[in-house]
Amino acid sequence: MNIHEYQAKALLKSYGAPVAEGVAIFSAAEAEAAAKSLPGPLYVVKSQIHAGGRGKGKFKELSADAKGGVRLAFSVDEAKAHAKEMLGNTLVTAQTGAAGKQVNRLYIEDGADIDRELYLSLLVDRSVGQIAFVVSTEGGMDIEAVAHDTPEKIVNVAINPEAGVTAADLAKLTSALKLEGEAKADAEKLFPILYKAFVEKDMSLLEINPLIVMKNGRMRVLDAKVSFDGNALFRHDDIKALRDETEEDAKEIEASKWDLAYVALDGNIGCMVNGAGLAMATMDIIKLYGKEPANFCDVGGGAGKEKVAAAFKIITADPKVEGILVNIFGGIMKCDVIAEGVVAAVHEVGLKVPLVVRLEGTNVELGKKILNESGLAITAADDLDDAAKKIVAAING
Ligand code: GDP
Ligand code: MG
Repeated sequence: MNIHEYQAKALLKSYGAPVAEGVAIFSAAEAEAAAKSLPGPLYVVKSQIHAGGRGKGKFKELSADAKGGVRLAFSVDEAKAHAKEMLGNTLVTAQTGAAGKQVNRLYIEDGADIDRELYLSLLVDRSVGQIAFVVSTEGGMDIEAVAHDTPEKIVNVAINPEAGVTAADLAKLTSALKLEGEAKADAEKLFPILYKAFVEKDMSLLEINPLIVMKNGRMRVLDAKVSFDGNALFRHDDIKALRDETEEDAKEIEASKWDLAYVALDGNIGCMVNGAGLAMATMDIIKLYGKEPANFCDVGGGAGKEKVAAAFKIITADPKVEGILVNIFGGIMKCDVIAEGVVAAVHEVGLKVPLVVRLEGTNVELGKKILNESGLAITAADDLDDAAKKIVAAING
């Protein structure tokens, strides 16, 4: 689960991290009071969307030379004007895709006088099984380009979970970032704080780009992107409350209500499967026969008829779907339950595209009988290969 920058900053501030004063607003009418409550004279008006690259982003509705999604303002009036221009419009950045994201919230922040922009992130480094800091002196810009062109400028420091952030780790990090004086002292306080927040809140990513050294020599968190491990959310009601469903795919939200794993993709074959391995195999074989999956919905083991029907409805609600492949291996899951769920869903929402069903495993004969006797235009398949060929052929007409 992702949260907005202003929420991430409030969370980090509660741990003692240095962040600027700021106010989140939802309408342009709130801009004046928000800016006036800050010290000034520099204000930053920041689009709050779940995507990065906002500074270099462009608003769809505005002219090409209009400013981007993060704007400096040198007076309260200018901050107001920016807020009015940005709210409600669609920001397209390198991370949003061409459709962009509507800006419904802004964060008005006290502006900083920047000396240096650094990069810092914390992530779970699976290669060493530890949480690692990734830092670079080349912050504020496209870190992917730095990683590609000058990988030596990115330094990785993995943290031993028993020891936590040690003095030796801090020495490596501050030296990699070429920090001195007060900024170094700030960093030595900040980095253990970030690590603590990461562990306690079950984050999967914490990215601060840029982490800045200000002209006055002090350090500040200028941008913050935080993702949380969805499997740990049950023990963080405070984090769950920060969820902004308008930023998420509506079908993924509906799926999560049913405890279904749904992933939207770019192709045109909708896939209902059980188990991640079978999902991967199903997508591979669709690609092998020259098509691309539109999505996959994993109903898992032991789902009931209602859950299967919900999954089917989510898959068919995607207008990109030109055909559906149901590929279930009934182990714990019973084939007749799948068949009943599919038939119930088709009766409810109709079937406008070809549907191929491959069932195998527990109660397979009963499952096939239910499908055959349903009177619905369902194509049965004998195995995975046969199923993929049939759905691709059906779509190709
Ligand atoms: P992003 O483009 O989505 O990553 O948004 P950021 O929050 O990282 O802001 C983009 C850029 O705006 C930063 O790299 C800075 O150069 C600039 N910026 C953001 N806040 C301030 C500020 O307080 N003062 C100044 N001078 N520049 C800022
Ligand atoms: Mg940034």
